[in-house]
Amino acid sequence: MLLEGVKKRQENLLGSENLIKESVCGEFLDCYLGDCESCSNTEPRTARKLMSLTEESGDEEVSYYYWSREYKKEKLQTTFADAKAQLVKQLAAMKRHSFLANVQLRQIRAAKENVANTHAVM
Ligand SMILES: [Zn+2]
Repeated sequence: MLLEGVKKRQENLLGSENLIKESVCGEFLDCYLGDCESCSNTEPRTARKLMSLTEESGDEEVSYYYWSREYKKEKLQTTFADAKAQLVKQLAAMKRHSFLANVQLRQIRAAKENVANTHAVM
């Protein structure tokens, strides 16, 4: 929902799947779980990506819906810059969630074995 809010201001923004791809260095389990040494801090990567896509100053108003603690859908009015900062923060949780949601337990186990063999730490 936050992503949709930002998209209203920035139509060429990548979809969440692509944003997640941009925030990891490879298709490794560690990357998606935030345990990879080279890409665990997604903020610089994603922020750079988002900034390069926009020419806006960041003061423009953006509104988006979010789920409150009481599980109510609430509307939040904020600035474009703030919404982008939030988006970058949420991405770490998003990539983890999307990965776990899309992959079978069996595949996770296989990936774990692969990580040990092919994911060199530099
Ligand atoms: Zn990585």
